[in-house]
Amino acid sequence: MKPMFDEYDVVVIGAGPGGSLAARDAAKGGARVLLIEKRQEIGDPVRCAEGINAVRALEYIDIPERMVCSTIRKCGLIVPDGRRLVLESKNVNLKGYILDRKIFDRYLAEEAARAGAEILVKTTATGLIKEDGKICGVTMRHLDKTFSMRCRIVIGADGVESKVGRWAGIDTSLGLDYIESGVQYLMSGIKFDSDCIDIYMGNEVAPSGYAWVFPKGEDKANVGIGLLGSRIRDGGRPIDYLNKFVEKHFPEGKILEMNYGGIPVTNELKQLVADNIMLVGDAGRLTDPLTGGGIVNAIVSGSIAGKTAAEAIKAGDCSEKMLKKYAKEWHDVLGKFIDRDNIIKEYFVSISDEEANRIAEKLKDADFSNAMELGNLIKLVSSADKKLLLKLGANEIKHLFWSPDRTDTRKKRASFRTGTSTDSHPVQTGRLSFFYSHHPGEKWKRMTGQKKKRSDKGKKTSWPGQKGKNIRTKGKTLPG
Ligand SMILES: Cc1cc2nc3c(=O)[nH]c(=O)nc-3n(C[C@H](O)[C@H](O)[C@H](O)COP(=O)(O)OP(=O)(O)OC[C@H]3O[C@@H](n4cnc5c(N)ncnc54)[C@H](O)[C@@H]3O)c2cc1C
Repeated sequence: MKPMFDEYDVVVIGAGPGGSLAARDAAKGGARVLLIEKRQEIGDPVRCAEGINAVRALEYIDIPERMVCSTIRKCGLIVPDGRRLVLESKNVNLKGYILDRKIFDRYLAEEAARAGAEILVKTTATGLIKEDGKICGVTMRHLDKTFSMRCRIVIGADGVESKVGRWAGIDTSLGLDYIESGVQYLMSGIKFDSDCIDIYMGNEVAPSGYAWVFPKGEDKANVGIGLLGSRIRDGGRPIDYLNKFVEKHFPEGKILEMNYGGIPVTNELKQLVADNIMLVGDAGRLTDPLTGGGIVNAIVSGSIAGKTAAEAIKAGDCSEKMLKKYAKEWHDVLGKFIDRDNIIKEYFVSISDEEANRIAEKLKDADFSNAMELGNLIKLVSSADKKLLLKLGANEIKHLFWSPDRTDTRKKRASFRTGTSTDSHPVQTGRLSFFYSHHPGEKWKRMTGQKKKRSDKGKKTSWPGQKGKNIRTKGKTLPG
């Protein structure tokens, strides 16, 4: 196995979803691309619970049916006292998939190959070549041979254990509070709702994390936990927590596979690109810190980085300034939700088991039929505990309840004001109904727990959680 050329426009390191999408879209854009993967089999072993938000993923790739093990319509939240809240969605288009990543990852690499990318497996990147401080290639090892490959752009897609960023001088280090340890069994012979994922909360189950059951067929499921190792107080290891969980809930189950790995749960990195280099997926710490989901984020970031690389090659400009187009577009599409979701995660890890039970008790008669959408869930939780809104602050609240699709924001704002909107079940957030279906005074009362006095009418007021700045809540202007 030998690369076809002595030099490439783009070398992509790592053939996970991020790397394959980057290779596919750089090749589609006309670049000469080499994708390298250190494993001998792309997609194997799996280190993932394989759940994705299908709506977002399908914007970037087709997913053939044979790769979908289950279609998910509901989410069970099991609070520490054992109570199960079932979140659903009225949006019939909102669905999740549990994939078979062994074939899914390979399919993505095939897509890259079909677009014209060359692929080398069992080939490990060992360093970057630099001339006068400028990155101009990658050193790699294939079996017992070490060689260098020159290129104009390197895309680091080498996952959570990434070294590419560090080699390029980009700080990708993660503190102990910002990386979850995930460990999982693929189990058979167990019972669950086949269209529902179950999430178990509580410090007994998984300190500062959660346990999951993701259906993968009739009696087969991914059963795992993710927790912050730094929060373990009893000296147990992540696997001990998983074994305890399995003994309690699935004593009859058989273990078919075991896998484990790190999951970044942090704010957006300050730097994703430098001259001649870009980081995508877990290598750029782009996982959603609230859910730990990183497949879609890798797909989206990989695709944008691939397109940007092709444009940069065509323009003959691979400078940091040019490649920042990728970082900006990534931020606009998904990156901007990372900091917000990190705040929500910090809230959930800050509440004690007793508080979580109290919140569930307050919500015992609440309507969860549309709570699969994050905005609606946040509305419900914050109606029982104002602390969440205080943590989020005005700006994040605005983004949470406002459309993630900024292209027609003005139109939506106008239609909500005039009551002509037809967008009753938007994907991803519950958005404006929280703010606009009620009298403003009532809105204030919901947010603060206090009644707004008549004499306060029209006064500049501080939004809960807002530091220093005043925001007008008069009339129907948005907070922030
Ligand atoms: C237990 C667990 C459960 C998870 N569950 C989910 C879930 O349900 N849903 C979800 O969305 N996310 C989940 N994740 C996260 C998800 O797996 C990752 O976010 C996702 O795989 C990131 O994709 P990626 O392409 O960035 O990296 P990866 O998929 O990790 O791919 C990186 C690739 O780079 C290769 N590589 C590494 N170093 C080199 C090198 N030097 N040279 C060549 N190749 C190299 C690796 O072999 C690997 O194939 C889970 C993670 C864990 C650990």
